[in-house]
Amino acid sequence: MADAHAQFEPDEQKAILAQAAAGEKPLCPRDGTPMTRRSIGGGSFGLGYARRREWLICPECRRSLIFDIRRGTRN
Ligand SMILES: [Zn+2]
Repeated sequence: MADAHAQFEPDEQKAILAQAAAGEKPLCPRDGTPMTRRSIGGGSFGLGYARRREWLICPECRRSLIFDIRRGTRN
């Protein structure tokens, strides 16, 4: 399948995730736009563990990234 939309480079993803993990509002490394966070639900599926995911979207360049929030993970 062809990429329908642009994605962040690995280094850019790391920068975004580092900001998100620190509790800061991530800024798009491309254009400095505050990224929109959207929670991705999954609690109703009855999984045996709780995992939160957020979808970080830059409203400016439309790049997006899935952010896994793991409990107890500290950098
Ligand atoms: Zn952007």
